Amino acid sequence: MKNIERCIIHLDLDAFFASVEQRDRPELRGRPVLVGGSSQRGVVWAASYEARPFGVHSAMPIAQALRLCPEAVVLPVRMNEYRKASRAVFTIFSRFTDCIEPLSIDEAFLDVSASLRLFGSGQAIACQIREAVRRETNLTLSAGIAPNKFLAKLASEAAKPDGLKEIFPEEIDAFLLTLPVKALWGVGAVTAQKLATLGVSRVAELRRLKREFLLRTFGASGGLLYDLARGIDARPVESDSSIKSVGHEDTYATDLSDPVVIQRELLGLSERVAQRLRSKNLQGRRVTVKVKYADFSVVTRSRTLAAGLSNGGEIFGIATELLSQTEAGRRPLRLLGVSLATLEVLGTGQSELFAAPRRARLSRLDQAVDQLRERFGDQRVVKGSLLAGRKEPSDAEQGTDGD
Ligand SMILES: [Mg+2]
Repeated sequence: MKNIERCIIHLDLDAFFASVEQRDRPELRGRPVLVGGSSQRGVVWAASYEARPFGVHSAMPIAQALRLCPEAVVLPVRMNEYRKASRAVFTIFSRFTDCIEPLSIDEAFLDVSASLRLFGSGQAIACQIREAVRRETNLTLSAGIAPNKFLAKLASEAAKPDGLKEIFPEEIDAFLLTLPVKALWGVGAVTAQKLATLGVSRVAELRRLKREFLLRTFGASGGLLYDLARGIDARPVESDSSIKSVGHEDTYATDLSDPVVIQRELLGLSERVAQRLRSKNLQGRRVTVKVKYADFSVVTRSRTLAAGLSNGGEIFGIATELLSQTEAGRRPLRLLGVSLATLEVLGTGQSELFAAPRRARLSRLDQAVDQLRERFGDQRVVKGSLLAGRKEPSDAEQGTDGD
């Protein structure tokens, strides 16, 4: 399997949240639009392309964005509308392949290697998807086509907005050698800084370093750097069905025995899991809490819900119930974990029907939060998803809509 040439498409909706607003309110088309909530204190979740020449970008405080672009129209976040649009777009993707890895609400990798005989080349498939999305949802998206995920994503970035770009095998070198090292997958500020001290700021310069040297300097990720600089990336496209669960666990240097500290850790884990779920555009119906006692014995408690969860506060509510079925707090813990399984695409299912129990869970949550707050003070406890869980803009840390 490994050596068979793959065809990967990266698809990314253009200025997604802002584009949905401009689609639904034609008077906003051609005007700078910022999606970012109702208060001046919020941040920009998405900026339309008309706003970007002013230097406005997502994650910037609204007040700052308005100083740069005073004529911008600021709109509140309508997450339900964006979810609806996202579902329609992902449904279109699914006509062409089952192998879809959602990266966020507006972005996905498709492995179309097995679809080429049926639908034509990668480029033909990307064209058909772009046309269908435009026709059926009135939104535009950009497509990158390449033999692997890393290059496909770079290609779609280069194609934005409303474009399509394919990187053919013989073009890989020419394309990569012009890029800064920061463009490489996984190269953040720290790695970039370390490379800079070695006199490396561009991929072309990175190419001159030997694999052994990179491994010595960066550990295992040095090998990754070596490969990426050559356009090599073997990561498979991981479709929903291949991801069975999303979880997070922590092992503690000192055993936990204070119930309030345990609650606080559980809250942090719940939020991290929620964030990861949403980053993959998923929700989960089965919540599992895992504890390992000081004597290394392990206990798990699970519950399957009628509706999927993706909100840190709600997950915390269920996790708290499950934890109460263990001896946590009475026996010291060395490990705590939260995971969600029975995954489905975010926003599907019958959540409306279960609105009442959800509210009950949230009020139990309020109590738990209040207890924590008393103990640790606001700053410690009041974190994004918990607070936001009660209102429409429930996904503050889902991140902003990059492009
Ligand atoms: Mg996008």
